[in-house]
Amino acid sequence: MSDPETPDHPAPELPLRSDHCGTLRAEHVGRRVALCGWVHRRREHGEFLAFVDLRDHTGLVQCVVDGAEDLRSEYVVRIVGTVRRRLEGTENPNLATGDIEVGECEVEILSVAEPPPFQIEGRVEVDETIRLRHRYLDLRSERMQRNLRTRARVNSAIRGAMEAQGFVEVETPLLIASTPEGARDFVVPSRMLPGNFYALPQSPQLFKQLCMVGGVDRYYQIARCLRDEDLRADRQFEFTQLDAEASFVTQDDVLAFISEAVAAAAEAVTGERPSAFPRMTWLEAMERYGSDKPDVRFGMELVELTPLFAQTGFNAFKASCVKGIRVPGAATMTRNQLDGLTDDAKRFGAKGLVWMKVEGDGTLASPVAKFLSEDELGGLRSSLGAEAGDLVLIVADERPRVRHVLGLLRLRLGRPPVTEGGLHFLWVVDFPLFEGLDDDGSPVPAHHPFTMPHDEDVHLLDGSPDDLLRVRSQAYDLVLNGWELGSGSVRIHRSDIQERIFDLLGISREEARHKFGFLLDAFRFGAPPHAGFAFGIDRLVALLCGEENIREVIAFPKTQSGSDPLTQSPTPIAPSHLEELGLRLLPPKT
Ligand code: ASP
Repeated sequence: MSDPETPDHPAPELPLRSDHCGTLRAEHVGRRVALCGWVHRRREHGEFLAFVDLRDHTGLVQCVVDGAEDLRSEYVVRIVGTVRRRLEGTENPNLATGDIEVGECEVEILSVAEPPPFQIEGRVEVDETIRLRHRYLDLRSERMQRNLRTRARVNSAIRGAMEAQGFVEVETPLLIASTPEGARDFVVPSRMLPGNFYALPQSPQLFKQLCMVGGVDRYYQIARCLRDEDLRADRQFEFTQLDAEASFVTQDDVLAFISEAVAAAAEAVTGERPSAFPRMTWLEAMERYGSDKPDVRFGMELVELTPLFAQTGFNAFKASCVKGIRVPGAATMTRNQLDGLTDDAKRFGAKGLVWMKVEGDGTLASPVAKFLSEDELGGLRSSLGAEAGDLVLIVADERPRVRHVLGLLRLRLGRPPVTEGGLHFLWVVDFPLFEGLDDDGSPVPAHHPFTMPHDEDVHLLDGSPDDLLRVRSQAYDLVLNGWELGSGSVRIHRSDIQERIFDLLGISREEARHKFGFLLDAFRFGAPPHAGFAFGIDRLVALLCGEENIREVIAFPKTQSGSDPLTQSPTPIAPSHLEELGLRLLPPKT
């Protein structure tokens, strides 16, 4: 028991900080607290008093301060005061601490601050370069605080879920030889071996497979990966993946492991566990949504119309594939808007776009309606389920192009904002092993070259080019609301199949040895069957935070042009440093 407070036993001194600003409530009334934080705002209150909103990572609290004239925005202060109820009628229902305030304040300035170049909150109007140059100020905002903390919770939930499933975290090197992910490598010159370069990992792919040969059994890592590709809203040079690999498992096992980790992460953020993730084959995704990462939050699916126009007299529909989408209620589009859509379709690769408006009486109004028979028009209406007021869009061409164009139009016309429609996770399975044929007729791999073909399709590897394009792989992607979260595959662990694939890909034995010789060597010493997956944590966190851009969930991201206005990277290096590395620069390309 503590001593009662008497003159001999004064109240114990408060620590530097006893409480957090945003956590004080009515139940704390009467408590003497020591708060530390930043001056968010100061409002004068009469001649001598000021309301000072004090901010820390938990939120704001109003402090009533006497003689606050030298307290400016973003000063760092310690305020010792007493929590008290606000006067009736002055409560602020928009603030978690709005029922109380802190009075009888003693203020100590811990750090003065220059006026910040932008308001910490309400930054929408601020140019991004200025925000990133002062990213530490941006990080003070409620939004960034929430996003960073959400990210940490996601990482922790993923770790917990992977470890509960028997996965062991292994750190793999950052300075490596090239990986087979197919993007451009970032390279680091070697000082000790001039003329040689390390690559920064595009993923720990080869190392995690080596871990399997090394008997690790179940590996995971929250891994930084680097790819020198153009930046976009969902792509940075550096990104973080949950990378995993397991031995003696099937595709179903991997899907279950990863679903568990992702569901745990989502639950940690939303408080709700997502239901089992549905599966869809790649072919079905392409046929119904025109995309291998379908956004299934909304309908507007691609409808097959090829049989309907098998005998058509309308030249534009005499194609190997005709498909359409129904845009509910869009018959109100103006001619200008429709011309815009046609231009989009052409930009996406179509020769043209046919549009039809469903009139009140059900007839289809379109410049091309007169070229179609009554049967064809009726068939169109019923196949698409078109109703009065709808707009119908039709593309006829080769199948891959039709899917691609309509898939993009569908997104353009129907995609809800990132914050709407809930979380729709989806496994896309049975990807083709090859994406197409290159100019020499060699198949182009859809994933990395260690991806196992589907058992039922292995025989097709000896067939015609058409057969090859039909080979399905044991590769799978995880999709969330139309974003590809990640991908993985069952790996080839048998050298005969691997050699066959290298041959097909036109990768010579020498090239294979040069690139992945160490992995092929390792496989000679007893490789367990294994499979794995990697998904982007930045993307998952962005969607869980309702952010359109992954930069919002990365503490120190790069701008679209790949630079960091805060540290000024990338920067030139000193001539002596270049010399030491045995490097000489060419004049910049004009
Ligand atoms: N390494 C692959 C990637 O980063 C994922 C995998 O196959 O495990 O995309």
